[in-house]
Amino acid sequence: TTYTDEARIALDTLAGRATGLLSSPSLRLGVTGLSRAGKTVFISSLVHNLIHGGRLPLFEAQKSGRISRAFLEEQPDDAVPRFQYEDHIDALVTSRVWPDSTRAISELRLTIEYESASGWNRMFSSGKLSVDIVDYPGEWLLDLPLLGKTYREFSAEAFEMAELPVRADLSAAWRKLSATIDPTAAADEMVARSLAESFSAYLKACKDDGRALSTLPPGRFLMPGDLDGSPALTFAPLPGLSDDRARAGSLLAMMERRYEAYKTHVVKPFFREHITRLDRQIVLIDAMQALNAGPGAMADLERAVMEILACFRPGRGSFLTDLFSRRIDRILVAATKADHLHHESHDRLQAIVRRLADRAIKRANFSGAEVDVLAMAAVRATREGTVKQGRETLPVIIGTPLKGETIGDEKFDGETETAIFPGDLPAKIDTVFMQDEDAPAADPALRFVRFRPPKLEKTAEGITLSLPHIRLDRALQFLIGDQLA
Ligand code: GDP
Repeated sequence: TTYTDEARIALDTLAGRATGLLSSPSLRLGVTGLSRAGKTVFISSLVHNLIHGGRLPLFEAQKSGRISRAFLEEQPDDAVPRFQYEDHIDALVTSRVWPDSTRAISELRLTIEYESASGWNRMFSSGKLSVDIVDYPGEWLLDLPLLGKTYREFSAEAFEMAELPVRADLSAAWRKLSATIDPTAAADEMVARSLAESFSAYLKACKDDGRALSTLPPGRFLMPGDLDGSPALTFAPLPGLSDDRARAGSLLAMMERRYEAYKTHVVKPFFREHITRLDRQIVLIDAMQALNAGPGAMADLERAVMEILACFRPGRGSFLTDLFSRRIDRILVAATKADHLHHESHDRLQAIVRRLADRAIKRANFSGAEVDVLAMAAVRATREGTVKQGRETLPVIIGTPLKGETIGDEKFDGETETAIFPGDLPAKIDTVFMQDEDAPAADPALRFVRFRPPKLEKTAEGITLSLPHIRLDRALQFLIGDQLA
C-alpha cells in the first residue's frame, strides 16, 4: 500500500466511527423457537403494545412515562425480508384470526424515543434506541451442531434417534426404504430424491402427529425457506456405513457431498450473517402443548432447549466462538400461551419452565449470559371467571374456541364465547417430567382448546386498546429495559 492508500483506509475508518457515533444505538433482538411456538404472535403484540402505549406496568420506562414515542423505521439489512407487521396485526385485530406463522427469517426495526432516568445519561445518550427484531425458525438454529459432524456421524445419530420408541413408528417407512438401499451402488438422482422425501416426511410427522416431538436436523427439511427442491436439500442419512472412503460416483459419495454443501452454503452463512450479530435473544417454547402430550414430549422439549442454548454459547476453543462479532448477554426462555390456564396455574407453569431451563443449562454446560424464564401470553385470548357447580365455585377461563375445536361431544363454531375449566398443572412439578423409562410421569390432565384472538376493548372515548397480554411487560423489561435506563 502506498501512503495515500493507507491514509484513505484510516480516513474511512474514522468516518465509519463517526457515523457509528452519530446514528442512534441499536440492539439486535433475536426471536426464535420451534415452529408454532408463538414467534409471530409475540413480535406482533410486542410492537403493537409499544406503538400504541399498551398497558405495560412492569416495563419501567413505559410505566414512569419516559417513553415519548415508539415507531417503525426502515430496517438496516436490505437483503432480509421485512417482518410483515401490518398484515399480522390486520389478521389479529380486524379479522380475529391468528396470523401466518414464521417460515423463514425476517426483520423489523422499532425505534423508541425516551428520556433517560438519570441526569448523567440524559446528558450523554441520544434518548433514542433502535431495536432490530430478527425473527427466525428455531429449526434453522438447531442445524448448528451439524457443522461439527461428518456425514457418517450425522447418519448414525439420525438412525439412533429414529429407532427410539417415541419415533419408531413414525420413522418405520423411511427406515424400511433405507434398508433396501446399497450405499455403494451408482449415484441415482431418483433414489436420492425418494430417500430425501421419505426422510423429510418422517421429520414432518414428528411435528404434526400431535405428539409434540421437537425437531431433528436438518432444519430446512422442515422449514425450507427458498431452498425447496435444491440439491443441497436432496440428501438423507444412510444406514450401516463403514469408515471406508466412499467410491467416486457412488450414492454414498453423492449424499456425503450434498450434506457438506448443506453445511457450507446453508448453515454457515445463516449463522455468520444473523446469529453472531445478536445482542439479546428470546427463545419461545410451547410448553402447554408438550405438557398436554406427556413426559416424552417434555423430555424432547428439554433436549431442544438445551441444543438451542448450546448454539448461543459454543464452548471455549470451538471454531464457532470466533464467528461471534457480538456477545449475547441476555436470553429469555419463555413459555407463551399461558392464557390457556387460570392465573392460579401461571406460577406453576413458570416453575415447570424454570426446571426445564435449569436442566437444559446444566446439560448444555452453559454459562456467561444471564438466562431468565417466564410464563406469559403474548396475546391473551381468554378472560377469567368462576362457575358454580353445586356448592363449589370453580375457576374457569372464558374465550371463543376456534371453529372445529372439541371438548367431549361439544364441537365449537368459532363464534360462541364459552367458559372452560382448563384443568390444573400438578402442584408437584416433578411429576410432569420423565422419571425413568419404567415409571412414566403423571398426566397433567389439561383441557386444551385453541381460542380465537380476543375482541379488543375500547375506552369510553371509543379508542381501541392495544392487544391484551400476560406478562409481556416482564419480557420487555428483561430484554430491553436496561438499555432505556
Ligand atoms: P410461530 O411459528 O412461532 O411464528 O408461531 P405463531 O406465532 O404463528 O403461533 C402459532 C399458534 O400458536 C398461533 O396460530 C396461535 O394459535 C397460538 N398462539 C401463539 N401465541 C399465543 C398466545 O399468546 N395466546 C394464545 N392463546 N395462542 C397463541
